[in-house]
Amino acid sequence: MENNFIQGTTGLTGLIGYPLKHSLSPSMHNSAFRKLGLDLVYLAFEIEDGSLQDGLNAMRTLNVKGFNVTMPHKQKIVQLLDGVSDDAKIIESVNTVKNENGKLIGYNTDGKGLVKALEESGIAYKGKKVVILGAGGAARAIAIQLAFDGAAQIVMANRTIIKAKMIINTINEKIPTSKGKAIEMDEEIIKEELKDASILINCTSIGMKSTIDQSPISNVDTFNKDVFVVDIIYDPLKTKFMSMAEEVGCKTMNGIDMLIYQGDLSFNIWTGEDMPIEYIKEVLFKTK
Ligand code: NAP
Repeated sequence: MENNFIQGTTGLTGLIGYPLKHSLSPSMHNSAFRKLGLDLVYLAFEIEDGSLQDGLNAMRTLNVKGFNVTMPHKQKIVQLLDGVSDDAKIIESVNTVKNENGKLIGYNTDGKGLVKALEESGIAYKGKKVVILGAGGAARAIAIQLAFDGAAQIVMANRTIIKAKMIINTINEKIPTSKGKAIEMDEEIIKEELKDASILINCTSIGMKSTIDQSPISNVDTFNKDVFVVDIIYDPLKTKFMSMAEEVGCKTMNGIDMLIYQGDLSFNIWTGEDMPIEYIKEVLFKTK
């Protein structure tokens, strides 16, 4: 039975993006479908830049139940869907699509996944100051979601400062309860900002497998031991950035919880059910 669960009624879900060979999402969602006995399957569809419209036509024709979206399509897909949630519209990025009676509706669960990971670990962000390193797609989703959900101040540092300024402008224009500030990727400036911050989040790609010996912060004195440090990278499980922060006494979290909770939120949008989180953590750790 376990090896022969696909039948005539099995609904299709999946992931579109390129490249996808190393994605953990198929393992995560298929394990959750099987565990809960849901008649669904999740496949990875490698769709290159330039083929998104054809890919969406295929999704409609095949009447898929829903799918995740990753790079390079997260921004471009916003214009091509039948509807987009209010927060995904402001984030200008979609990572989850649900087929609602033939209409493809877009959502963004990336930032919500990180917020849920903080909440599950008991880390306070409402009314607090959060410093974010990086201004790419993940940083944008996280910064805007934290501002939406009550962080009082978002400070964003990025190598290309114009990108940070654009995200911060969106926060200052659209979310009046939160104050945004863009700063240079300069360790003295970051150190000053960390003096009264509660959370520091690395959203740059520095420290992933290809740059495993690097950290976006090079001097341990830049960290403040009272600031909770998050690296949204999950491979490796402990980045150099996290090790340096721990050296000065900071508590840290890697990107696994964000990955699982953004997946849990997508899973819930498609199925109306919660993902079996503890079971999925076991599955993902086993595959590492
Ligand atoms: P992205 O849009 O390509 O953004 C990359 C960011 O890293 C940019 O801010 C870029 O700065 C910065 N950066 C890259 N190389 C740099 C360098 N050598 N020096 C300084 N800054 C550098 O990527 P993304 O989609 O936001 O993803 C960022 C990271 O988050 C990746 O490691 C990804 O795996 C991880 N992620 C994790 C999850 C999760 O669920 N845990 C979800 C999404 C992403 P510039 O703007 O100056 O180029």
